Amino acid sequence: MMTATADVLVLGLGPAGASAAAAAARRGCRVLALDRRREAGVPLQCAEFVPAMIGVPLGTLPGAVRQKIGAMATFVEQGAPDLDPRFSGYMLDRPVFDAALVARARQAGADCRFGRAARSLSRSGLVALSDGSEVRARVVIGADGPRSTAGRAIGSVNGALVETRQITVALAAPHAATDIFLSARIPGGYGWLFPRGEFANLGAGVHARARRELKRIVAALHARLVAEGRVGRGIVAATGGAIPADGMVRPRGELGRTLVLLAGDAAGLANPVTGAGIAAAVQSGGLAGEAAARCAAGDRAAAAAYEEELEEIFRPALEHALGRRKELEAAAPAGETALRRGWIAYREYWQ
Ligand SMILES: Cc1cc2nc3c(=O)[nH]c(=O)nc-3n(C[C@H](O)[C@H](O)[C@H](O)COP(=O)(O)OP(=O)(O)OC[C@H]3O[C@@H](n4cnc5c(N)ncnc54)[C@H](O)[C@@H]3O)c2cc1C
Repeated sequence: MMTATADVLVLGLGPAGASAAAAAARRGCRVLALDRRREAGVPLQCAEFVPAMIGVPLGTLPGAVRQKIGAMATFVEQGAPDLDPRFSGYMLDRPVFDAALVARARQAGADCRFGRAARSLSRSGLVALSDGSEVRARVVIGADGPRSTAGRAIGSVNGALVETRQITVALAAPHAATDIFLSARIPGGYGWLFPRGEFANLGAGVHARARRELKRIVAALHARLVAEGRVGRGIVAATGGAIPADGMVRPRGELGRTLVLLAGDAAGLANPVTGAGIAAAVQSGGLAGEAAARCAAGDRAAAAAYEEELEEIFRPALEHALGRRKELEAAAPAGETALRRGWIAYREYWQ
């Protein structure tokens, strides 16, 4: 059996993995990065909104931005929207964005390959791939999403997951806000309409117990927006996926002499209220890549330092969001006061 070797093996080439691979390769490591998908960012499993600052200059990634967003418009039940310009940002073309991050990793010298899945990690840190081959690395970075194989191997498993469904529909008129729909009928989550030029991503996320209701919830939101003349009846595409909603897991472990670091969704860094995880994936991926390079050079304490960095940067906001999320779930069916307290656009959320 073939056993390949690398200083750093990155599992997953989403925003976290591509950022990690680039950072480690820039520091002179031999980096192998694998993704089970055939192509970066495909299929799309994202509503594609990011705030302006996400740790990578978007202007340097050609074609990655579809349009600007000037505000968030929050609808509580059937009420008029509350507009908030603090939540401005950009709508990405996520496959283009992901592919551009992979191109940067390759430019830095990382060997990035698609169509290669990690099946398991042994107790000694040997990584078995689905094609029967194996990889041995000094450091494994688990950037393999909410149901991370690397995370499972070190006992760091995301708890609650939010389940989502999203359709793409035609927009009747250009729109420059992200619309958020809060309702007792969308338990443990919210609905969204995010514009992308002539089209929009229309979806909803709910806690896992309500996932069977998702199709009906998204259909009802779609019907409401069709009746309001805002979107077309036709569905151009449909997708979905899970989002970690339980906060950060321990982002490091050891399997024999192999150090394992987790980044992005694998580390539980998506916000438990908003589900936003792209910026955290880019930032934590970069930090994981830097830490992995130090570990591979013999400084094993860099793994603990990485955990401390993540604790400092992400833990406070994640814990706050988790608290609000739990309150909202306990209030089910949630009234309007509880819905406002559970959403980032309202003062009550931050108090
Ligand atoms: C419907 C939906 C809408 C969302 N909308 C937004 C949004 O608008 N804004 C926002 O900021 N966030 C959003 N998110 C969350 C965001 O998509 C994630 O937080 C982000 O993609 C995390 O990046 P990542 O690199 O950690 O993981 P991912 O992007 O999930 O990448 C993980 C990669 O690992 C690969 N992989 C998994 N297992 C293996 C394996 N065993 N071997 C090899 N490869 C493997 C996968 O193929 C994948 O490419 C949304 C999520 C969903 C589901």
